[in-house]
Formats: sequence, C-alpha cells, structure tokens
Amino acid sequence: MGEPTIADLAVAPARVRLPRPWAEDVTHVHVIATRVTDSDGAVGEGFSWTPAIGAAAVAALLDHDIRPAAIGLPADPEPVWDRLWARLHEAGSGGLTGMALAGVDIALWDLRARRADRALVDLLGRRRESVPVYGSGVNLHYPLDELVAQARRLVSAGCSGVKMKVGSPDLARDVERVAAVRAAIGQGTALMVDANQRWDLPGALRAIDALRRHDLHWVEEPLLADDLRAHAELRRRTAVPIALGENLRTVHQFREAILLGACDVLQPNVVRVGGITPFLRVAELARTGGVGLAPHLLADLSGQLALALPAPTWVEDVEDASFENLGVLAGPSGVRIADGRLTAHTGPGHGLRFRANHPTEGGP
Ligand code: MG
Repeated sequence: MGEPTIADLAVAPARVRLPRPWAEDVTHVHVIATRVTDSDGAVGEGFSWTPAIGAAAVAALLDHDIRPAAIGLPADPEPVWDRLWARLHEAGSGGLTGMALAGVDIALWDLRARRADRALVDLLGRRRESVPVYGSGVNLHYPLDELVAQARRLVSAGCSGVKMKVGSPDLARDVERVAAVRAAIGQGTALMVDANQRWDLPGALRAIDALRRHDLHWVEEPLLADDLRAHAELRRRTAVPIALGENLRTVHQFREAILLGACDVLQPNVVRVGGITPFLRVAELARTGGVGLAPHLLADLSGQLALALPAPTWVEDVEDASFENLGVLAGPSGVRIADGRLTAHTGPGHGLRFRANHPTEGGP
C-alpha cells in the first residue's frame, strides 16, 4: 500500500444569518463546508467562505473542476495546492479560484494533522500559548450611540485594540465618530480605522490629516486594494501606518505590496489567498520583507495560525461572527477568546467540525 491519495471531496454550501448585520445589505455570510476522504478512509474538514458574493461559483468550481482533478492526488496539501493552482489558473490566478482552492487545502491540513494525531497548531509549530485579539466593528451604518456602545463593549471584553469603519460620504461624520470612539476607549487602547477602499489618494490624505490627532494605530485599505502604487504614494506622504491585504489574492500580489512599500501591515485572509499553504508563504514573505502581519477575519482558523506564526501578531475578532456564534459547527472547536486573548486546544486537526459534514448532529 502506497501513500494515501485523495479518494473523495464533498462540498456543502450554507447561507448563514449574521446576528449583527455588517451593512444594511450584508445580513448573511456563506460558509462552504468541505470534507476530503483519503484512500485509507481518513477524513479532513475544511471550508471556503464569502460574506456576499461568489458562494455558488465557489461550490461549482469545487464540484466541477477541483474534485475530478484532486481525486487520486497524494493527500498532501502543498503539492496538491501547486497542482490545482496550475490547473485553475486559466480561470484566474486568484479570486474565486483561490477561494475554492482554500476548501481543499484547509481540509488537507486538517487531514494531515488528524493522521498525525496532533492539533494543527502543534503540527505547524506552536510558538505561543495565546495571541491578543482586537475587536473589529463592521459598523459604518451604526448610529453614533450604538458605535460608542460597541467600542465600550470591546474594551470591557479585554480587547487591546478597537477597529472601526470610516469612509462616510461626509468626512465630518468620520471625524465626529472617530473622536467619540477615542474618547470612549481612552488612550490605553489602540484605535484602527478601516476605509474599505472608499477613498482616492487626495481624499485619503485629507481624511488622515483630519483623523490622525486621535492617534491611529493604522489606516486600513484607504484606497482601491488593486492600486498598490497609490498605497505606496500615500504611505510616503503620511506617518500613519497603512494596513492592507484582505483583498489581495495571490502570493505574487503580496510580494508586490512589499516591494513597492505599499504598507506597514499585511492582512491575508486565509480563504481568499487560497488556504493555509499560501497563507504560510505570505507569512514568510512578510517576515523576510520586514512588514507586519495581522490575519484578516476568520479568527476560528486564523487565530490558530497566529499561534504558530514566526512573529507575534494579533487577531481580528468581529463581534458575534465566529463560526461558533454563527451556529455552523457541530460542537466546540477548542478555539476560545477570553479576556482579549485567543487560545486553541483543539484536539487533532483544526477542531472545526461543520454541522453540514455531520448531519446526524445538526440535521441536513
Ligand atoms: Mg478591513
């Protein structure tokens, strides 16, 4: 009997209600649960994810293009990732293809760790027992009193940083809201602002000039994420650190961001970059490129990766949006956030067992 190969890939998409909508038109997210079975019958679980756009396309790529190409390959994440990426490349080097690839890659890492009877964090090399968490509000649509109440809740929960949305059509509204949040959280808590690509270069310069007196830890995605040169230009013209990366899709794009000097902090999303395999490659680029790394969302998994990253980091936690909060898990994962710190004691694998893959526990 040779090395185990991929025998099956199952895909189970679900649309899940957000307890706290992220915008008036973002009331749900999509979690596409995956399960890889190898030729010995061992199983690994993974997922893809997208807030609003592309879930059906991701599931179709997994069903129609990835499953037939994956079956029969050795059940090892890195060679599988390279083979499948080469195959999918003509449909796009990143984006939907990468989001679909993540479904296989995360399942293969889970499979590898479960076969070794080790937690994923320990398989990767646990470097720290816990990582700090910052509270992230998806809150541009919140009225001021709700915004301030959320910031206070995040500080009470022990978060050492609070991130809020900016990029209102009227800059005066942003100024008022940032001032109110800074006053609510005090000087001892880091404050980040996230413009979600809403400014152009002159608008960003004006906004940062108006907001920087509130001691911004970073400004996130001030400009269209694709325009790395404009970010580099902005960064040359302001002292406030720039963060970006949740909308970069390939390792090559991250390399460009570093080489251009576009940012101080890279924020790869483990699904959008294509899974754990490329996430670790981005982390290595960040380390050798001398920029920080702070994973984007998906704390259930990216928190585990943060425990094993070479450099200390912190993890983004959106209120009430963990997989456990969303009700997509068949049981507790072993990832916990308490007193502003994340720990992970998951048992073998990454511990994320999706109801969709365990229908006897959660209904089909
Ligand atoms: Mg962001």
